[in-house]
Amino acid sequence: MNEIISFDEIDKHGPQTCRGSYELSAGEVEGDEIANAGAVSIDATADKGHIAGEYIVDGSANFTADLTCSRCVEPYPFANASSFHVRFRPRPESLGEENEEVEISDEELDVEFYTERTVPLRDLALEQIQLAIPMKPLCDEACLGLCPRCGANKSREECSCDQLATDERWSALEGIRAQLKKKEV
Ligand SMILES: [Zn+2]
Ligand SMILES: [Zn+2]
Repeated sequence: MNEIISFDEIDKHGPQTCRGSYELSAGEVEGDEIANAGAVSIDATADKGHIAGEYIVDGSANFTADLTCSRCVEPYPFANASSFHVRFRPRPESLGEENEEVEISDEELDVEFYTERTVPLRDLALEQIQLAIPMKPLCDEACLGLCPRCGANKSREECSCDQLATDERWSALEGIRAQLKKKEV
Protein backbone atom coordinates (compact mmCIF):
# COMPACT_ATOMS: atom_id res chain seq x y z
CA MET A 1 0.00 0.00 0.00
CA ASN A 2 1.13 3.50 -0.81
CA GLU A 3 2.54 5.39 2.12
CA ILE A 4 3.40 8.59 0.33
CA ILE A 5 0.87 10.89 -1.28
CA SER A 6 2.29 12.14 -4.55
CA PHE A 7 0.64 15.08 -6.30
CA ASP A 8 2.41 14.12 -9.53
CA GLU A 9 0.88 10.64 -9.34
CA ILE A 10 -2.57 12.15 -8.83
CA ASP A 11 -2.04 14.35 -11.91
CA LYS A 12 -1.11 11.27 -13.94
CA HIS A 13 -3.36 8.54 -12.57
CA GLY A 14 -6.15 10.21 -10.60
CA PRO A 15 -7.17 9.85 -6.95
CA GLN A 16 -4.80 8.07 -4.61
CA THR A 17 -5.70 5.93 -1.59
CA CYS A 18 -3.15 5.42 1.14
CA ARG A 19 -3.05 3.48 4.34
CA GLY A 20 -0.38 3.10 6.97
CA SER A 21 0.19 2.00 10.56
CA TYR A 22 3.15 3.17 12.54
CA GLU A 23 4.68 2.51 15.92
CA LEU A 24 5.79 5.81 17.34
CA SER A 25 8.68 6.64 19.59
CA ALA A 26 8.21 9.18 22.36
CA GLY A 27 10.62 11.66 20.75
CA GLU A 28 8.63 11.71 17.54
CA VAL A 29 5.60 13.31 19.11
CA GLU A 30 6.15 16.67 20.75
CA GLY A 31 4.89 17.29 24.24
CA ASP A 32 5.71 16.39 27.81
CA GLU A 33 2.19 14.96 28.11
CA ILE A 34 3.27 11.78 26.35
CA ALA A 35 4.52 9.10 28.69
CA ASN A 36 4.58 6.39 26.04
CA ALA A 37 3.86 6.94 22.38
CA GLY A 38 1.82 4.06 21.02
CA ALA A 39 0.64 3.24 17.54
CA VAL A 40 -1.23 5.18 14.91
CA SER A 41 -3.12 3.96 11.88
CA ILE A 42 -4.19 6.30 9.13
CA ASP A 43 -6.35 6.08 6.01
CA ALA A 44 -6.36 8.81 3.42
CA THR A 45 -7.73 9.56 -0.02
CA ALA A 46 -6.13 12.32 -2.04
CA ASP A 47 -7.53 14.01 -5.12
CA LYS A 48 -7.27 17.22 -7.11
CA GLY A 49 -9.03 20.24 -5.68
CA HIS A 50 -11.06 22.95 -7.39
CA ILE A 51 -8.28 25.43 -8.02
CA ALA A 52 -5.08 24.88 -9.95
CA GLY A 53 -2.39 23.21 -7.88
CA GLU A 54 -4.77 22.34 -5.06
CA TYR A 55 -5.05 18.80 -3.67
CA ILE A 56 -7.57 17.60 -1.13
CA VAL A 57 -6.80 14.87 1.38
CA ASP A 58 -9.60 13.23 3.36
CA GLY A 59 -9.06 10.56 5.90
CA SER A 60 -9.13 9.29 9.43
CA ALA A 61 -6.54 8.47 12.04
CA ASN A 62 -6.66 6.26 15.14
CA PHE A 63 -4.07 6.60 17.77
CA THR A 64 -3.23 5.24 21.21
CA ALA A 65 -0.67 6.40 23.74
CA ASP A 66 -0.05 6.76 27.44
CA LEU A 67 -0.43 10.36 28.49
CA THR A 68 0.71 11.91 31.72
CA CYS A 69 -2.12 13.32 33.81
CA SER A 70 -1.58 17.05 34.35
CA ARG A 71 -2.85 16.82 37.94
CA CYS A 72 -1.45 13.63 39.45
CA VAL A 73 1.43 13.09 36.97
CA GLU A 74 0.48 9.40 36.56
CA PRO A 75 0.44 7.85 33.10
CA TYR A 76 -2.94 6.70 31.79
CA PRO A 77 -4.07 5.12 28.51
CA PHE A 78 -5.45 7.47 25.87
CA ALA A 79 -7.11 6.61 22.57
CA ASN A 80 -8.32 8.97 19.91
CA ALA A 81 -10.09 8.61 16.58
CA SER A 82 -10.34 11.63 14.34
CA SER A 83 -11.20 12.40 10.77
CA PHE A 84 -9.50 15.14 8.81
CA HIS A 85 -9.89 17.15 5.66
CA VAL A 86 -6.83 19.05 4.52
CA ARG A 87 -6.41 21.19 1.43
CA PHE A 88 -2.89 21.49 0.13
CA ARG A 89 -2.20 24.58 -1.92
CA PRO A 90 1.01 25.81 -3.49
CA ARG A 91 2.74 28.31 -1.24
CA PRO A 92 1.66 31.74 -2.55
CA GLU A 93 4.45 33.92 -3.96
CA SER A 94 3.14 36.85 -1.95
CA LEU A 95 3.83 35.21 1.41
CA GLY A 96 6.37 37.25 3.31
CA GLU A 97 6.12 40.30 1.05
CA GLU A 98 5.62 43.65 2.70
CA ASN A 99 2.23 45.40 2.75
CA GLU A 100 0.64 42.18 1.73
CA GLU A 101 -1.68 40.78 4.34
CA VAL A 102 -2.41 37.15 3.75
CA GLU A 103 -5.90 36.72 5.06
CA ILE A 104 -6.87 33.33 6.32
CA SER A 105 -10.63 33.07 6.39
CA ASP A 106 -12.50 30.42 8.35
CA GLU A 107 -13.02 28.54 5.15
CA GLU A 108 -9.26 28.28 4.74
CA LEU A 109 -8.42 27.01 8.20
CA ASP A 110 -7.67 23.53 6.95
CA VAL A 111 -5.38 24.79 4.21
CA GLU A 112 -1.73 23.83 4.27
CA PHE A 113 0.73 25.40 1.88
CA TYR A 114 3.13 23.03 0.24
CA THR A 115 6.45 23.36 -1.50
CA GLU A 116 7.14 19.62 -1.85
CA ARG A 117 4.84 17.64 -4.13
CA THR A 118 4.87 14.58 -1.88
CA VAL A 119 3.34 14.12 1.56
CA PRO A 120 4.51 11.16 3.66
CA LEU A 121 1.50 9.55 5.34
CA ARG A 122 3.50 9.28 8.54
CA ASP A 123 3.85 13.10 8.70
CA LEU A 124 0.13 13.50 8.19
CA ALA A 125 -0.50 11.00 11.02
CA LEU A 126 1.85 12.86 13.36
CA GLU A 127 0.01 16.10 12.64
CA GLN A 128 -3.30 14.50 13.56
CA ILE A 129 -1.85 13.17 16.81
CA GLN A 130 -0.52 16.59 17.73
CA LEU A 131 -4.04 17.98 17.23
CA ALA A 132 -5.65 15.18 19.24
CA ILE A 133 -3.57 15.48 22.39
CA PRO A 134 -5.38 17.56 25.03
CA MET A 135 -3.63 20.63 26.39
CA LYS A 136 -4.20 19.47 29.95
CA PRO A 137 -4.60 15.71 29.95
CA LEU A 138 -6.57 14.27 32.88
CA CYS A 139 -6.62 10.61 33.94
CA ASP A 140 -10.10 11.37 35.22
CA GLU A 141 -12.18 14.56 35.39
CA ALA A 142 -12.39 13.92 39.12
CA CYS A 143 -8.64 13.44 39.60
CA LEU A 144 -7.69 15.11 42.88
CA GLY A 145 -4.06 15.62 41.94
CA LEU A 146 -1.08 15.67 44.23
CA CYS A 147 -0.86 17.16 47.68
CA PRO A 148 1.26 20.31 47.28
CA ARG A 149 2.98 19.56 50.60
CA CYS A 150 3.86 15.87 50.70
CA GLY A 151 3.27 14.87 47.07
CA ALA A 152 0.79 12.13 47.94
CA ASN A 153 -1.65 11.20 45.15
CA LYS A 154 -4.87 12.39 46.75
CA SER A 155 -7.04 10.19 44.55
CA ARG A 156 -5.35 7.15 46.09
CA GLU A 157 -4.34 8.04 49.60
CA GLU A 158 -5.25 10.51 52.26
CA CYS A 159 -2.50 12.48 53.88
CA SER A 160 -2.71 14.55 57.02
CA CYS A 161 -1.47 17.78 55.43
CA ASP A 162 -4.90 19.40 55.17
CA GLN A 163 -5.31 19.01 58.90
CA LEU A 164 -1.89 20.54 59.56
CA ALA A 165 -2.54 23.44 57.19
CA THR A 166 -5.78 24.23 59.02
CA ASP A 167 -4.00 24.20 62.36
CA GLU A 168 -1.34 26.58 61.03
CA ARG A 169 -3.92 28.97 59.70
CA TRP A 170 -5.58 29.06 63.09
CA SER A 171 -2.33 29.77 64.86
CA ALA A 172 -1.62 32.58 62.36
CA LEU A 173 -5.01 34.06 63.22
CA GLU A 174 -4.22 33.79 66.90
CA GLY A 175 -1.05 35.78 66.24
CA ILE A 176 -2.98 38.55 64.48
CA ARG A 177 -5.47 38.65 67.30
CA ALA A 178 -2.68 39.06 69.82
CA GLN A 179 -1.20 41.93 67.77
CA LEU A 180 -4.57 43.69 67.63
CA LYS A 181 -5.00 43.36 71.36
CA LYS A 182 -1.61 45.00 71.91
CA LYS A 183 -2.66 47.96 69.73
CA GLU A 184 -5.90 48.38 71.64
CA VAL A 185 -4.05 48.69 74.92
ZN1 LIG B 1 -4.71 12.23 37.49
ZN1 LIG C 1 -0.02 15.80 51.95
